[in-house]
Formats: sequence, structure tokens, C-alpha cells
Amino acid sequence: MSRTLARPLASLRSLRCARTSLPLGIRKASNAPPDAAALKKLPDIDASKLEITKTTSPKEPRPANELIFGRNFTDHMLSIEWTASDGWLPPRITPYQNLSLDPATCVLHYAFEAFEGMKAYKDSTGALRLFRPDKNMARLNRSAARIALPAFDGAQFIELIKRFVALDARFIPAQRGYSLYLRPNIIGTQRTLGVGPPGSALLYLIASPVGPYYPSGFKAVSLEATTESVRAWPGGVGDKKLGANYAPGIVPQMEAARRGFAQNLWLFKEGEEEYVTEVGTMNLFAVFKDKATGQKELITAPLDGTILDGVTRDSILALARERLVPEGWKVTERRFTMNEVNQAATDGTLEEVFGAGTAAVVSPVRNISWRGKLVDCGLKGDSEAGELAQRVKGWIEGIQYGDEEHPWSVKI
Ligand SMILES: *Cc1c(COP(=O)(O)O)cnc(C)c1O
Repeated sequence: MSRTLARPLASLRSLRCARTSLPLGIRKASNAPPDAAALKKLPDIDASKLEITKTTSPKEPRPANELIFGRNFTDHMLSIEWTASDGWLPPRITPYQNLSLDPATCVLHYAFEAFEGMKAYKDSTGALRLFRPDKNMARLNRSAARIALPAFDGAQFIELIKRFVALDARFIPAQRGYSLYLRPNIIGTQRTLGVGPPGSALLYLIASPVGPYYPSGFKAVSLEATTESVRAWPGGVGDKKLGANYAPGIVPQMEAARRGFAQNLWLFKEGEEEYVTEVGTMNLFAVFKDKATGQKELITAPLDGTILDGVTRDSILALARERLVPEGWKVTERRFTMNEVNQAATDGTLEEVFGAGTAAVVSPVRNISWRGKLVDCGLKGDSEAGELAQRVKGWIEGIQYGDEEHPWSVKI
């Protein structure tokens, strides 16, 4: 069944936008006087202008145990159009529906697209909560700016997200571990094959109810270290959540899967050294124990431009500095190599390794296939998670679900 409405979301103003930006080759020289549109301050997102059109055919939420990540969506979507001449137009919540885009729309040709991944949680009192949404807004603004898409007022967008989540809250199962995955997406919508800054854009948000990542407890995964393909490089855009970063990761991931591995561990080769960067679409943490002193060190790669600045990563580092350092731990952001990980595994000083991201919070790693051998990541016996991974998951979920009152949890 087609859900396209009579009033399409993205095509409506495209004719007007098409005039506001010049085709490639005749762009103004930089010393030309700025046009009037650039001089006047254009409207930013204004949550008070929200127009809501509710669905006339509300869906029955799927039973909690049938939810598949990213397959089922709620009744509505949130959309805000932008044009270079008029700035951000009034936000709209409408029934979830198809976009109507001209085949020449720039996002379809040159990947003008950036996204976010965040969640809304229902706490034990039934109240709705977001987790550090300001971090997602800041990151989406950085991602958008890198591909010439417009910046926006993150606080206003968070207000709109709150309205949206409240409207579709009935899709969030009340049980612990469930949440509403929120997907903000910004695309360039100008109809042009010219390679240039989009003269129009659409910022929208859709939402998918999701169940716990580990419905029956942690499941440690096996990784394959990948060196032939590189996820990100200095001067690149690996630190931005751009769609263009993800499609090229699928074939290496399929190759790893064919050999029986759950995910790739992305390495970055420099000379003889292979630096550990990220796992799949998660940040990576390792716990080393000092051979001489027994001091434990939580380590993750630094934000050097090749690493996505994960909200979960940042939260783990902050909580570890607050709660582990007083216990005698070291918490370190530095480059580390697969050689070091392998050496620690051999010495018996590799305590645990885990991925970190919004979807799972933490994802424990059993072993890593690297240079023809399987590096054991320190899980004891058939245990599915290390001690720290379990603690960290408890800390963060405790805040997300409001068991622990914390400034990171934003009540709706
Ligand atoms: C989204 C993402 C992460 C995790 O970020 P969170 O904000 O913690 O969800 C890590 N690495 C990559 C490549 C990502 O795309």
C-alpha cells in the first residue's frame, strides 16, 4: 500500500530551492558581494511552530517479543525542511509516509546524508526519558556541516523529539530493556546533478521500537581483524555519522561473516603497526592488567579524526574516571595496536574486550582472528561477558531507565 500523501514532504518547495543555489561552474567568485539571503539572519528551527497532523489509521503496536530492530516503525514522523533562501521552515509531525523525491535529488547521487542513532526509554513509573540527546544534536550538526548541509538549533530539535516521543509513546513496551530507537536523518533535497552545496535540505526523524539487544543475557562475539579495507583515515570523515561511511563496510563484514565472524575489527595500518580503531559500528574498549603492579587499565582509541565520537564511549569514559579511578584503575585514551592486544593475551594480562554503542550499550568480545591466529580476549571459561562490561552496562542502563537520577537522563 502506498503511503504517499497528497502533500508530499520534500518535493513541495524544491522548485523554489532550485533557484537559490547556482549550478556548478557558475558559482560566484568568493570576492563577489554576498547575496541578500546570506546577509539576513535566516530562521532556525522553532519548536513553537510545530504543526501536527495525526494519523487517521493508527497501527496496532507489534507484540514486544516480535520486534525486529529497524523494521517496525511508529505511526508518525517528524520533518523540517530547510531552504537556503528561507532557512528552517515550520516543523511538522505527520503520519509516517513515503518521501517524494525527484530522481535528480542530490542525496541520491552524491550522498548528502548524515544520521543519528539515539533512544527513548520508559522508566519504571512510565515516564519517558532521553539519554544525553544534546550529544546527538551536536554530533549531527558536525556531520551535517562537513557535507555542506545546514546547521540547526539542537535544543529546539530536542523539544520536537520530546513532542514526537510523547505522541508515539504507546509503541514503547514497558518492560525493562525495551526502548524506542530514534533515527534523525538529514538529507540534501535539491534537484540538481551539479556537484555543489545543496540549496535545500530535509531533517526528519522516524522511530522504531526495539527489544533488548541480548534478550537472554550477553553473547560474546568473535571478530575478524580487517586490514585490507580501511574504515577511516586521517583527514577523512570517519568521525562523522555520514551514510557514505557505512555502505563500504558491508562487503568486508559479509566476508568476515562467511568465515564465521560476527563483526570486523577495523584496524588502521601505519608502517608495521596495526592500530585498533572500532568494531563494526561500535567503539572498542580493552582492559589490560599491568604485569608488575596488577593495576588495571581501561583503554580506547583517541578521537583523532578516524574514530566516531560515540555517546556511549564518552559516557563509559566519564563513569570510569569517576568510579574506577578511585578503585585504582587507569583510564586511557590512546592509540594501541593489535600487537599489544596479542601480547597481552599471550601474557595473560588481557582482561576483557568489548564494543560500545547505543544499540547494545556494550558487546563483549570472545576472540579476534588476526594474522591467522585467534587472539583470546580473556573471558573466563564459557562466561559471556567480562566483569567490567557487566558493570558498565548496569551503570548506563541504570541512568537510561531512571533507576539512578542523573543529569544525563532527560525526562520528557
Ligand atoms: C554510531 C557509531 C558508534 C557508537 O556511537 P553511540 O553514540 O555510542 O551510539 C561507534 N562507531 C561508529 C562507526 C558509529 O557509527
